[in-house]
Amino acid sequence: MIDGLTSVRAVRRTGKNIAEPRTRSSANKLPGAGKKKAGAGDSPVKPAKRIGKTAVPVRHDITCYECGYGFPIHGRLHKVICPKCHEALIVDDHCIEDRCTYDITTIGAIEVGPKAVVSDCRLIAGAVKVAGNIKDVTAITCENLTLLEGAKCNIAKVTTKNLSVGKNGKFTFTKRITCKNLDIEGNLKAKIDVNGEATIRPGGILRGEFRGEKLTIEDGGALSAKLVLGAGTSRR
Ligand SMILES: [Zn+2]
Repeated sequence: MIDGLTSVRAVRRTGKNIAEPRTRSSANKLPGAGKKKAGAGDSPVKPAKRIGKTAVPVRHDITCYECGYGFPIHGRLHKVICPKCHEALIVDDHCIEDRCTYDITTIGAIEVGPKAVVSDCRLIAGAVKVAGNIKDVTAITCENLTLLEGAKCNIAKVTTKNLSVGKNGKFTFTKRITCKNLDIEGNLKAKIDVNGEATIRPGGILRGEFRGEKLTIEDGGALSAKLVLGAGTSRR
């Protein structure tokens, strides 16, 4: 255990951020790509030219809101049936710009705009992105919660698998947070248990207490926290 101010610098990102859509060079070939037709001649095979980038389908980690079963979906969410309970899941995305006091259940995304106030209701979603006020929600359950600059949130009401703190976001939480993956571009002060990967990105800072197995601090990220690092240290 390292107590006190610990400063770690400049490690290359080792892992993938599961939740984020990314583009990658076209390493993943489509079936048949690169194959030559038989009899195409004897000319030596030239290395294939790289033609830009191919978008890799976004992976969504879905948790069925009916039975709790978790499964991945690649690409766009459209007509998703839970493989376990066979419920046809709602995939709608919602954009809340003003007041919201009604429950929302979806495996899609909910965006809470900067002027929105969500209260006295329950949100169940895949991704929840918040720039507004969700302090007085009854509960939020999601795969990915992103807290953007200016968001107001009572973390005690939130159950999320992954937590992201957006650029310039500044949050202090007193309740201990447990999540799988943590991604910080802003400022977070909390006691946090991460049982997957934590990444502090350039401009990001984590204060408080961190327990977990994998912590990456990118160049320009900062950490000033009590650290408990290593296998089995996060409380599950
Ligand atoms: Zn189900």
